[in-house]
Amino acid sequence: MNEIQSNLDTIKGQLSENCTLVAVSKTKPSSAILEAYEAGQRHFGENKVQELTIKAEELPKDIQWHMIGHLQRNKVKYLAPFVHLIHGVDSLKLLKEINKQGEKVNRVIQCLLQVHIAEEETKFGFDEKELIELIGNDEFNSMKYVQINGLMGMATFTEDTDQVRREFKSLKNLFEQFKNSDHAHLQMKTLSMGMSGDYLIALEEGSNMVRIGSSIFGERNY
Ligand SMILES: *Cc1c(COP(=O)(O)O)cnc(C)c1O
Repeated sequence: MNEIQSNLDTIKGQLSENCTLVAVSKTKPSSAILEAYEAGQRHFGENKVQELTIKAEELPKDIQWHMIGHLQRNKVKYLAPFVHLIHGVDSLKLLKEINKQGEKVNRVIQCLLQVHIAEEETKFGFDEKELIELIGNDEFNSMKYVQINGLMGMATFTEDTDQVRREFKSLKNLFEQFKNSDHAHLQMKTLSMGMSGDYLIALEEGSNMVRIGSSIFGERNY
């Protein structure tokens, strides 16, 4: 068994049945993705539109592609025909564009709303107040080609595991809070949190989708 396959086995052994593993393949060659594919992995995540579309073109068609990075509006059109899930939705403007491009290809596009949970300032995402505003927004509520399936968040990059846990807890709380809202195209099913450095904490705090790159494919050289 090769290294990628044994890494996958180890991680899968730590995940419960209802947790989806997104293998984050950014910067890695298609040959590495194929190795994971041959071990049964079907969900892959990329953070650059061009890299994602090139890989999707040359790799097996039953791969489910996740866009996990910050998405620029002018690039939505390249993903709309095939993307499985967009994790990083962080504005109404972006949602409008996704809705528009979904309509063009007659596809309801699955999205997660990115929530700003890190105490550090640099990360993208909604805060609680902005989420509440969005959910009450008429324009949002009339979008027919967008389906919100849950929330995504990134914890602060820190050794302080108490802080990381606190941040994941706050995301889980929001997830539970919005579960009870009765919007047709807002369903709280997917809670995407946890990366190589913090997924074990994320799992303990209720994550059901982890995005793992370097622990599967090795360190990235940019
Ligand atoms: C790169 C990336 C990951 C995976 O990071 P690793 O630390 O390699 O597991 C997860 N989520 C997002 C949004 C990323 O950009």
